[in-house]
Parts: sequence; structure tokens; C-alpha cells
Amino acid sequence: DVAPNDLEAWWLPFTANRAFKRNPRMIARAKDMHYYTPDGRAVLDGVAGLWCCNAGHNRASIVAAIQAQAAELDFSPAFQFGHAGGFTLASRLAAMAPGDLDHAFFCNSGSEAVDTALKIALAYWNVRGEGGRTRLIGRERGYHGVGFGGISVGGIVTNRKFFGTLLAGVDHLPHTYSREHQAFTMGEPDWGAHLADDLERIVTLHDASTIAAVIVEPMAGSTGVLPPPKGYLQRLRQICDRHGILLIFDEVICGFGRLGHAFAAERYGVVPDMITFAKAVNSGTVPMGGVLVSSRIYDAFMKGPERTIELFHGYTYSAHPLACAAALATLDVYRDEDLFGRAKRLEPVFAEALMSLRGLPNVLDIRTLGLVGAIDLASRPDAAGARAFEAMDRAFQDLGLMIRITGETIAVTPPLIISEDQIGELVDKLGRVIRAVA
Ligand code: PMP
Repeated sequence: DVAPNDLEAWWLPFTANRAFKRNPRMIARAKDMHYYTPDGRAVLDGVAGLWCCNAGHNRASIVAAIQAQAAELDFSPAFQFGHAGGFTLASRLAAMAPGDLDHAFFCNSGSEAVDTALKIALAYWNVRGEGGRTRLIGRERGYHGVGFGGISVGGIVTNRKFFGTLLAGVDHLPHTYSREHQAFTMGEPDWGAHLADDLERIVTLHDASTIAAVIVEPMAGSTGVLPPPKGYLQRLRQICDRHGILLIFDEVICGFGRLGHAFAAERYGVVPDMITFAKAVNSGTVPMGGVLVSSRIYDAFMKGPERTIELFHGYTYSAHPLACAAALATLDVYRDEDLFGRAKRLEPVFAEALMSLRGLPNVLDIRTLGLVGAIDLASRPDAAGARAFEAMDRAFQDLGLMIRITGETIAVTPPLIISEDQIGELVDKLGRVIRAVA
């Protein structure tokens, strides 16, 4: 075996590489709720890998489906040929999706799903003869992957800073969370609507006839677990309807039971025009992403005088047979074990357990939604992010717990198969690690 410090090959993200090599956190195996280190230490998975493995790890039926598919049909070219798994998966996703989101396009990641959705939005208006609708609107603190489209509409300035102007004509809605205001605003029915009215200001500034689409994560995930204030998503939908603007929900994190429903759209009773998904569609086993598209959009390409042929977009690995087989087996697990319902039932248990950490040293705020939790820690002087980083490292090395961090925020997003005892264990270990980094 090669030790990570010996590796000349490089594949970790730029930002993680150096710190990792100083202090490697190597993983060798996984099963159900646990990872195992090369020396056999069990690590409770508090983050479903990376918001992916909602069915837990290495589930026998999913493994068997991938193996059987590899033996049967390893690859199917994506443009002029098809295979049954892709069609079956598309129709199963359509049946799970809200409203008339009846068509699925497949790609290989969340970033590709976002770029695909943005391209579909622009092409839709072109096909409809409204090619002037080119502006895209994202949200501050939105994360939409690392494609050029995703970083353009994404609301993280540092992710854009090396790449010039990127997509022209992008605006960002203000973000909707502030610790100071949250206590008295999150539950206020009008507050979310009030914040969403910022979209009206952007429309007034640019004119609706120039705006193609708005893209938001229903709950901003990787920038710190920021639930939407009450009424926010509903008001965005109203304003988009008023001006004929397309609404895209990026559900790469929220989808597949994370918030107790197949999609967050269902939880909030809002039907967007497109939903992007990835990660948990096949419980993280084989790279896959995709976009669910409304009939209105699909029909504009398929039934109008212009044909789909005018929109060239697709990937060599779109609807890869292994990814599709894994997804179909995963959706069976979700259904047979009622994992979305389970997440919903566990939501209050999880919330109460996490909230018990309030009052620990340096804990500034705790938020939960579905089976997602976040703990904001206070920074040490002149060392932003260092406390959470140390917490993540110690949790893994000393306590056998995997957590996720962004800045000084710890995120926990366990597989949906987590037991109540394991929620207790997770929170107990979190409490210990927070005390340890005091
Ligand atoms: N959108 C959202 C909401 C995400 O959370 C992520 C990844 N965390 C992405 C898009 C990008 O997905 P990927 O890393 O698979 O490209």
C-alpha cells in the first residue's frame, strides 16, 4: 500500500490537498452507517459521505444490481441508442416528482445538472421566440457546483474570483439568513415573502422580458444549512409566474428524502419548472446527475415547429447503465424501507438531540431541517475556520465520527437509515468534540 504522503498522483480538491497530506484521513471500506479506516477503525458516518449515501453504504441489493448490470451491459452510447434502464429510471423519477415534471435528462454530477438546466432555460426562450430572455438570477450563498454556469449563478464570490466575468447578465438575490434576525423572523409568515420581493426589484431593474430563469437551492446546503424562511419559495414562484420567468430548484442536496420528501418542492408545496438532482439518486454509488423538466418545457422542444435537434447537449456517459441500475435499486430501497417517511418521523428526534448541544462553549447557533443539522462555532482570533477544522479532524481521528465543515459551520446529514440510538451516539460525539476544541 502507498501512504498518501508518497503519492505523486494528485486528485484531491486544491483547497484540501495540503492539509490532507499533513494529516491523512484515509478510508478503506464502508457498510451501512459506518466507514472503516485501513486499520479497521469504525467511523460513524454523520454526513452520508457527502450528502450522497441516503440508503447507507454498500447495501447488498444495490451492489448486486451494479454487478449484474456490469456483467450484462457495460455501456450504451447516449446519442442515437438507448437502453431500458434509462427509460425505466426516467419514468420512475417522473412519478416521484411533483406537478408535471415528467421528463428526465441524465448527466454525471450536480455541476453538470446545473449547467444543463441553465442551458435548457436559455434554449427554451429561444425556441419560444423570446431569445431576449438571457439573464439568470441566483442567490447569495447559493452553491450550484463548479461548472461555469454553476459558479456564475452561485452566490459564493470566492469561487468566482479567478475566472473573470463568467456568464454575462447574472444577478443574485440577497441571502435570507442572519443569525441575529433568525429568532424572530424565520417563523414569521410574511418575512420570507418580504425577502423574496427582492426578485421584483431585479425584475423592475432589468425588465422581465430579459430574464430567463431563477435558480435557488430550496435549503442552501453546503454554505451552511440555511432553511428558507416561511413563504420565501412560495413568493418566488408567484413572482416568476407573474413575469413568465422559469424557476429552477437545485435539489442536489435536498432531493431523495433528505427533508422527509422525495423532493423539497413537495415539502414546500411549490412546483418549479425544473429540478436538478444528483448525489442520493443512487445513494452515491455511481456518478449520476440529472434534470427533471416540466412538460411545458419539454413540449416546446419536442412538439413545436423547432425540433430538439437544434439543442445540442448531452454527455457520453448520460444515463450510464451502471448509474441507472444503481439508481433503480436505490429507489427500491427508499420505497421498500420507506426511508423518506423515516426521515420525516426522525426529524423531531434529530432536532431535539442536536438542540441539546445549545449552550456548549463557542456554539453560536444550531439549525435543523429534515435530517440535516448545522452548528455554527465561534472563530478563534485570527483563525477563521480553524476551530471547525480541528473538530472535523478530531471527530474522525479520536472519536470515530465523520462530519462536514464549511467555514466555522459543522454540518451533519446522516444516511436516512440512522437509528435513534445512533442519533444519540452522533450527538454525544459531537458534544465531546465541541468541548475538546473549546
Ligand atoms: N448543487 C448543489 C446544491 C450542491 O450541493 C452540489 C454539490 N455539493 C452541486 C450542485 C454540485 O454537485 P457535484 O459536486 O456533483 O458537481
